[in-house]
Amino acid sequence: MPEILFTHSYFLKLDPKQFRLQQPYAPLGTITAAAYIRENGFKVSLHDSMFCNGPEDILSVIEKAKPGYLVIYDDGFNYLTKMCLTNMRKAAFKLIETGKKFGCKVIVSSSDATDHYADYLGIGADFVISGEAELTLLHLLKSIENRDNNYQCIDGLFYMESGRIVKTEARQVMQDIDSLPIAAWDLVDIEMYRSKWIKKYGYFSINMATTRGCPYKCNWCAKPIYGNRYNSRSPENVVNELVYLRNKTGFDHVWFCDDIFGLKPGWIKDFDALSTEKGLNFRYKIQSRADLLLKGNTLEFLSHSGCETIWMGVESGSQKILDAMDKGIKVGQVYEATKQIKALNMKAAFFLQFGYMGETREDIAKTIEMLLELMPEDIGISVSYPLPGTKFYEKVRHELSTKANWTDSNDLAMMFRNTYQTKYYRRLHRTVHKKFRKRQALSALKSIFRQLKRPDLISLYKAASILYYIPAEALASLRLRLTNG
Ligand code: SF4
Repeated sequence: MPEILFTHSYFLKLDPKQFRLQQPYAPLGTITAAAYIRENGFKVSLHDSMFCNGPEDILSVIEKAKPGYLVIYDDGFNYLTKMCLTNMRKAAFKLIETGKKFGCKVIVSSSDATDHYADYLGIGADFVISGEAELTLLHLLKSIENRDNNYQCIDGLFYMESGRIVKTEARQVMQDIDSLPIAAWDLVDIEMYRSKWIKKYGYFSINMATTRGCPYKCNWCAKPIYGNRYNSRSPENVVNELVYLRNKTGFDHVWFCDDIFGLKPGWIKDFDALSTEKGLNFRYKIQSRADLLLKGNTLEFLSHSGCETIWMGVESGSQKILDAMDKGIKVGQVYEATKQIKALNMKAAFFLQFGYMGETREDIAKTIEMLLELMPEDIGISVSYPLPGTKFYEKVRHELSTKANWTDSNDLAMMFRNTYQTKYYRRLHRTVHKKFRKRQALSALKSIFRQLKRPDLISLYKAASILYYIPAEALASLRLRLTNG
């Protein structure tokens, strides 16, 4: 049986902001699919693009392994792949061309390929899988190997037949995700990931998914792979995998990359009890929503089980904008959740979004005011990004520019006609970051003066950065004021 070479199209070097950050996470979606296909009797291997110079690096791998299939399977759990960046699309096209040149059957599964399947098929991919892909991939491989050529009956596929694109029925998402095998971590160069983390941060963080999908309907949020259903693994299944991964990788920290961690009632409580029983004693970060965190004793269980950082999709400090986004969250809930997170010695972190339709300078001012008042531990700022399949995309469709995707994750281009234009939002992004870091530096300085003992090096470094942030923030604010939009 021919070998199946798995790869993916996220290259750290092609995303300058992430390359500077150096927080690489293994392609979890890719290795989960590889484990599933292997469990079903196929021979698999992995070419992990993460640390490669570019798509050309796969050439020597294909020459050596001579696989029958090249499966370009992006990690749908990583928000970076959901951004459909054009640098990665170009790389994916190069991978497809290389696979075809060496006679492989090329199969692609990614958010971008689901949205732009015609382009991927046009460049030479034999099949594009839309949505959740493990089952579709298995059916497809069996069908090709059995030579039955009956792809029409495989749900979740795009392919070419007699010069036209065939789209099969949409595949329903899997409900029993406990039945999937543990991701094929043996195919990953764990030492490479570990060394990057240790070098920059002094600890090793790995990624893990406990759920698929999100039932909320924030109208700009694209979910082309796992959709609006929410399916969860059992706490037992997750804790067993954590025990396995602790032994295999020796991680210090876990990023639970779920859209929403522990939404099912009682899940976090059970998870806390089980991980305590197994003596896991680890630190982790999650993504959640302010309204959910305030339910019952959720925050207490999170804190007790080792949660260190909670990233919240805060988006805006203006209720008008949150309502326009169908966010379903009140600004007051963000204030309350942040207060309670800090009271339990956890760290709050905010995803903020500028540039939603109808946003004015007053709305922007409210967001900045909220940020500086609440002072989370960290922030991620983005600009509204219309992606196909969302209500937001439909709303601004007639206003879209020719540029439909960002080049890399720091592009921040405003891709529809809005009150202000790209230059304004890029400067706003810079200014808000500088304001935030200046305030952090000031707090560090104040707490050094308040403390009687000698400060540690990190606090000293933070406090000293005030010398940079005071002029940097003044300059960024001035440049923003001079920008009309
Ligand atoms: S809660 Fe988060 S993942 Fe869910 S729809 Fe809203 S932004 Fe998307």
